[in-house]
Amino acid sequence: MSDVRHHRVYIIGSGPAGYTAALYAGRANLSPYMATGIQPGGQLTTTTDVENYPGFPDGVMGPEMMQLFEKQAVRFGLEVVYKMVEKVDFSSRPFRLWEDDGSEHTADSVIIATGATAKYLGIPGEQEYLGRGVSACATCDGFFFRDVELIVVGGGDTALEEANFLTRFASRVYVVHRRGELRASKIMQERAMKNEKIEFIWNTVVNEIHGDGNTVVAATLTNGQTGETWKKEIGGYFSAIGHKPNTDLFKGVLDMNDVGYLNVKSPSTYTNIEGVFAAGDVADPIYRQAVTAAGMGCAAAIDAERWLESQE
Ligand code: FAD
Ligand code: NAP
Repeated sequence: MSDVRHHRVYIIGSGPAGYTAALYAGRANLSPYMATGIQPGGQLTTTTDVENYPGFPDGVMGPEMMQLFEKQAVRFGLEVVYKMVEKVDFSSRPFRLWEDDGSEHTADSVIIATGATAKYLGIPGEQEYLGRGVSACATCDGFFFRDVELIVVGGGDTALEEANFLTRFASRVYVVHRRGELRASKIMQERAMKNEKIEFIWNTVVNEIHGDGNTVVAATLTNGQTGETWKKEIGGYFSAIGHKPNTDLFKGVLDMNDVGYLNVKSPSTYTNIEGVFAAGDVADPIYRQAVTAAGMGCAAAIDAERWLESQE
């Protein structure tokens, strides 16, 4: 069909992994093509200061940093379209992909960089104060919560890791867990129990986040066993109930772990289908940082380039 466009490298997703893959693929003369998805620039466009990305000693605003990523990749020939990939067929080569306007594309290689999305409780006030006292990333935002009391919701490793990290800044961290028993590993539990700044609030759910128009000031909690409901003053709230990798599109197509992260043949970015590579949070249940995503994006482009060459 004449209206089907063909690409050497098709990149799905426009976060640090996608743009870094595009930069390297562009400089390898592979004329990369990228569908940005509904969040052009990825997760960092939802935050303010990024202070831990090397090369920005004074920090940089997340959206600005992602514009710079795009500019640099476009300079080396990246073609960007602001569309979603809705369907893929990786069963034969060239691979086939369909965008949300119905257009069909084929590709010799595909780099998946669709990221992961932090899960939130979906309670009133949560989205309203996102980035203004509500966060899902202690490594990213902990620094901004000095000498205040915080709530971390969740009972898994992430919650305890976040809570431990936040005690570097906060005066007190309350871990609010819906059950009376933690899901987290023993070692993480022991570490958290020993930390004098951490206090557990058991069998309790958070119902609402309250703010003063600028930032979070309190949360309403309910104890599921006693039914008691109370309002607790806090200076910030961290959701740590897990991340959901954006891999629905690839279910039944690519190998994933039990929570949906794409499996790659580490330290490479090869998935179980030759010619399809994965980079960034979508294939990283552990680090989930901008710099690690960018590093994997670089690796994916180099893997794709070498694999394409081996096919010629
Ligand atoms: P993402 O940034 O998640 O990008 C995924 C991309 O895939 C998006 O562009 C999306 O639109 C696209 N996509 C998804 N599905 C499709 C589809 N079907 N078709 C096309 N495109 C699709 N990390 C740090 O290192 N420092 C920080 O200070 C920091 N702060 C953070 C603050 C917040 C609020 C959050 C949520 C995260 C923060 N992180 C931070 C983590 C960091 O943002 C991520 O590790 C990083 O963005 C992951 O990059 P990625 O390229 O893998 O994916
Ligand atoms: P997780 O293990 O799935 O834990 C999620 C926690 O959030 C659980 O305690 C769960 O409660 C709670 N939760 C989920 N939905 C909730 C809701 N709607 N309301 C209230 N609470 C809710 O996720 P994770 O902690 O992100 O860990 C994911 C994986 O990464 C795990 O394999 C973990 O070991 C690993 N990890 C490892 C480390 C480390 O080793 N340092 C650090 C982070 C993560 P219930 O317990 O009641 O289900």
